[in-house]
Amino acid sequence: MKESTLSVALVFPEVLSTYGDRGNATALAHRARGRGLDCRVIKVGLHDPVPRTADVYLLGGGEDAAMLLAREHLRGQRSLAEAVAAGAACFAVCAGFQLLGHEFVGPDAITRSGLGILDVRSRRLPGPRAVGEVLAESTGLDVGFLTGFENHQGDALLGPAARPLARLLVGTGNGHDHDEGVVQGTVVGTYMHGPALVRNDRLADHLLATVVGALEPFDDEPVRRLRLERRNAALRPLRRRWPLRRAGLASRERRQP
Ligand code: GLN
Repeated sequence: MKESTLSVALVFPEVLSTYGDRGNATALAHRARGRGLDCRVIKVGLHDPVPRTADVYLLGGGEDAAMLLAREHLRGQRSLAEAVAAGAACFAVCAGFQLLGHEFVGPDAITRSGLGILDVRSRRLPGPRAVGEVLAESTGLDVGFLTGFENHQGDALLGPAARPLARLLVGTGNGHDHDEGVVQGTVVGTYMHGPALVRNDRLADHLLATVVGALEPFDDEPVRRLRLERRNAALRPLRRRWPLRRAGLASRERRQP
């Protein structure tokens, strides 16, 4: 962090904030201020230059057309890539995640280049659109289980410089190998809305810690309850689908001393 105030750049919220992804900025500011840190959220409009000096950059999801518009305005701007290379943290959701990769495929089947910040290539999921709750266990970072919801047609193929953020228990995520999201240096990408940093407090703290160093503990009881409630909601359809297995497990549990 360059100054005593942590700056969070919310990139193009007019077009990249589907399902309230701008709430990721609110979550970061809330958790930073809870530790006595000053935090300023800078909304970067579609016609504004992306600043070079923010500490954290947030890109949210967007519909196909909105995503292409965001791409037009990001193209040719080097500031995000330079800031990340200099150590800034970046968190990108769904359309934002795809835009940071080498390339992605739109609904017109045309492959377009992304910013190339992530070693990821996105194509179209072969099956129906991935819609619904997501539950995953973090593997690329040590931030516990992750909860969110997805609504996308893109997948994500990770290259050798990138590692998966999490292993899926419920949901489609990247569409390959039960992986969800990506971690590459200080950049985290995911298909999870929620907003994801509201639902996943340890992931939010990871991004803050990337720029400010170790953080004081900050327990948020409503978030803890929300996480458990969402985890149960994500698991409910599985429990309904496999009642026999559940019954089997239950009788095994009863037999144990
Ligand atoms: N339009 C993109 C897709 O369908 C991203 C969707 C989103 O950001 N929710 O894959």
